[in-house]
Amino acid sequence: MMTLKELYAVLDQLEAGQLPPAERLAAFIEACAPELFAGIAPSNAEELRRSFLAEAGLPVDEAESGAGQSAEELPELSGEERIALREELFRRARNRAQEHFGRRIYVRGLIEISNFCRQNCRYCGIRCGNAQVERYRLTPEQILECCEHGYSLGFRTFVMQGGEDGWFTDERLVSLLREMKSRWPDCAVTLSVGEKSEASYRRLREAGADRFLLRHESADAEHYSLLHPAAQTWESRKACLKSLKACGFQTGAGFMIGSPWQTTASIVKDLQFLYELKPEMVGMGPFIPHAQTPFADFPAGSVERTLVMLSIVRLLLPAAMLPATTALGTAAGDGRERGILAGANVLMPNLSPKEARDRYRLYNNKLSEGAECADNVNALKARIRAIGYEIVVDRGDFQPL
Ligand code: SF4
Repeated sequence: MMTLKELYAVLDQLEAGQLPPAERLAAFIEACAPELFAGIAPSNAEELRRSFLAEAGLPVDEAESGAGQSAEELPELSGEERIALREELFRRARNRAQEHFGRRIYVRGLIEISNFCRQNCRYCGIRCGNAQVERYRLTPEQILECCEHGYSLGFRTFVMQGGEDGWFTDERLVSLLREMKSRWPDCAVTLSVGEKSEASYRRLREAGADRFLLRHESADAEHYSLLHPAAQTWESRKACLKSLKACGFQTGAGFMIGSPWQTTASIVKDLQFLYELKPEMVGMGPFIPHAQTPFADFPAGSVERTLVMLSIVRLLLPAAMLPATTALGTAAGDGRERGILAGANVLMPNLSPKEARDRYRLYNNKLSEGAECADNVNALKARIRAIGYEIVVDRGDFQPL
């Protein structure tokens, strides 16, 4: 059984930038935030799990996904001890972020270019299998207008995010990137448009894209196969992330906290994967169900566990760009502020036109108004100032230690 002293030793190890052994790390995570989910799984969860495993051609007799690395037995912690441990983790992660970034928060203007998608991720509201979505696609002219508007508001990074939409061929994206880079040469451009061949990634990089976000979602192959149809594999996702790195992108990985059937053991695999890949950005937010997906009745992920993960990743990858995500802001009103106080250093307000924002629903009740809307950047600045931080006009490139 681990003692409280040993849990603090795990924290010391994380603070030194070292990855603790799997069982100890799992015990530490569970000590800080025992709950993974903010509710209980639906009664058909096991039936669903079995059918998804069968679809993936995997054995269906194991009780749980992510078996293999269970947490060491935990000491009986009092509520105060648990809170003190978690607060100390947040404090050390916040200090590490401040050592590297000061109290500067970088903003990225998010442009949701299309909600057409050929993929069918089970957690996603704009998956191709959802016939109820009103589909839209911004024209290149609309995207450029968003950039122009964003530039005037002080944004120096534009993130073009969309489903895997065949209309946005490499040629179209290349021409758009060239136009963006010639009009706003002092801006960084981030793409988040899914899985492509290494040759395609290279063309996009050569056309001026600086960064690419592609969440890994789960580094546990079995868990990955529960979240995605059989045609989408962990091997393919991993290969894409390696290609992005090889092409010289500042690369973003990441995953949802509390997705269905996630376990602490599978989260440890995510951390091991991130530690090895060393992505320049890591996007993490709580899972939030979408009503028109197979996961509609599953509970959302825990906000506390998400904050704990942000802090752990801050300590393991001190220079990484870590957004306090929209999902975190949706799950808790003060989620973004708490994310920053747990070590996050990036916000991504939405620059998309209103009609697009309304239709780009990845999960229920996704924030798209108020401080989430880039037009209200002054409101966002005031909120961030209130916790002692400052939003800056800056590309906010990754700077290694
Ligand atoms: S998560 Fe991305 S790739 Fe998957 S269905 Fe949604 S938009 Fe498509």
